[in-house]
Amino acid sequence: MEAAVEQWPRGGGGVIDTGARPPASLAEELAALERVRGFDVRGTLAAARALRERASVAQDDVAERRALLVEADMLDRLGDTSDSVRLVWDVHEWALRRQHGGLRARTHRLLSSVFQNLGDAPSGLEHAISAMEALDEEEPEVVRQRFVTMLADALATAGSYDSARERYEAAERDLQRLGEMAELVHVLNNHAYTEYEAGDLRRADQLVTRLLTVAETHGVGLTAAARETVASIRVAQGRYAEAVEVAEQAMDFLATGRFEEIDLQSEHALMLTLAKARRLLGDYVGADLALQGCLAESSRRGIAAVYVGALEEAAAAAAEVGDFERAYQLHVVFHAESEALRSREREVAARTSQAIFETTEAREAAQRFREQAMRDPLTGLFNRRYFDDQVNVLLALGEPGLSMGLLDLDHFKSVNDDFSHETGDKVLVTVSRVLERVVSSAARGTPRPFVARLGGEEFALVLPGLDAAAAVELCERIRLVVAEHPWSALLDDRVQTVSIGVAQARAGSSVASLLREADASLYAAKESGRDAVVYSGSAVPRRAWRDIIPMRTPSEEVLP
Ligand code: GH3
Ligand code: MG
Ligand code: MG
Repeated sequence: MEAAVEQWPRGGGGVIDTGARPPASLAEELAALERVRGFDVRGTLAAARALRERASVAQDDVAERRALLVEADMLDRLGDTSDSVRLVWDVHEWALRRQHGGLRARTHRLLSSVFQNLGDAPSGLEHAISAMEALDEEEPEVVRQRFVTMLADALATAGSYDSARERYEAAERDLQRLGEMAELVHVLNNHAYTEYEAGDLRRADQLVTRLLTVAETHGVGLTAAARETVASIRVAQGRYAEAVEVAEQAMDFLATGRFEEIDLQSEHALMLTLAKARRLLGDYVGADLALQGCLAESSRRGIAAVYVGALEEAAAAAAEVGDFERAYQLHVVFHAESEALRSREREVAARTSQAIFETTEAREAAQRFREQAMRDPLTGLFNRRYFDDQVNVLLALGEPGLSMGLLDLDHFKSVNDDFSHETGDKVLVTVSRVLERVVSSAARGTPRPFVARLGGEEFALVLPGLDAAAAVELCERIRLVVAEHPWSALLDDRVQTVSIGVAQARAGSSVASLLREADASLYAAKESGRDAVVYSGSAVPRRAWRDIIPMRTPSEEVLP
């Protein structure tokens, strides 16, 4: 069975964080908070919340989200996996949209541990690799090593022990060189636990020996998880007396409250290992004492993985003293409980996927809503609000050669009068499609030109990157394409035409001044007899198809 929490840190926390000096800035405090091992979970949660508040006041979006990720991590440790995942996923999508590597690295890392805990090793590994890829070159070396260790953990969970070993060893070398002894102990713990799982007891033994030496020499306190790793390996080696000694020491440590909080899993796993080691030494009374305590506590606290392991151990203990009746009964309970545990794990996995799905759904719904708020319902074109916002942005960017065409349908009122309002709507939609098509064919690079319906039968063509001459050219093309459209299907022998006024932005132009200028030209176009393009007071000479370069045939141009 699992000796301890599989999540980072693997096998549980490796070291006791003795707390840092009071750091100077938000950024430093954040970095310090991220370095805290999952120990005083509730304390860390409270600190993360406080820091998030401060980041929010300082309008530091990234810091706010980094603090949120620490909160999510702590929530997960407290067993609130679906809430945790919801938070992480939210930040993840934000980071993807902003292409923020540092945040993305952190969200991938947390998602990796979530999936590992859910028993989805391939997804865990995928996220671990993405986390490494997204990690900023600028991150401190010790942070980088944490990511390397995380990747090694994910590889180990996926059963790629050789690849995991390679990473653990690289991290161990670098942390030794950096003098980061507490971090080193953490990596040695995870590495040792991996070798134990892989069944390589020789390596596991070397690693725990080194772990104990480094911790001793550098005064690094061992966590319940690290002690549990050592005890488990000693049991596997048949060194039962040593296992008992390590476990008993840890229990004393627990009794004096030295492990501040949490990591209940490791603590209860220690009791179980103690029971097993005592039984194998022939101390049945002592074994039973530890085991009864473990059964009661793990069941009371709902630490199912340990509880199931304890039932199995109880069955083994009963069989060993010849009480086969009891051994059989315990085995039945053990089987039922381990089934229940597996189905609970499946349920958690399903709830987690659901949380991810809901977050994605909610985001898509919000996106659709935002889209709708920018669109005109009849034509699907951008609306007046979008037009105002975008032109303001383009003017603020000082877009070179920003031009605009203001387009109005000629004698449109009579279409409604002579046909129907419905036919009028169809004409508006048809003109909209023509405008979109011609304008998008003029798109070169970004920002892209677009069409908006300002209201009624009035449209704006927003043309960044086009000077007045190019804009006039394009508008003349539009005028011609509309006039050449096969209108007979809608309007019998009538032809719908448009008039367009062109304006170009200058230094100091505003949305209002651009519209005023374009409107004056539009008025002139109407005055000149309609079906015309006007720029700067003068009508643009009408062209025929053969004059338009590059030329496409009218039928090609008009077909949807
Ligand atoms: P001009 O050439 O001078 O622009 O003449 P016009 O008839 O196009 O101008 P006017 O402003 O007098 O009429 C515009 C008409 O557009 C009035 C209105 O009924 C019609 N209209 C505005 N919005 C819609 C709409 O959404 N659907 C339909 N079918 N008609 C609309
Ligand atoms: Mg009008
Ligand atoms: Mg009109």
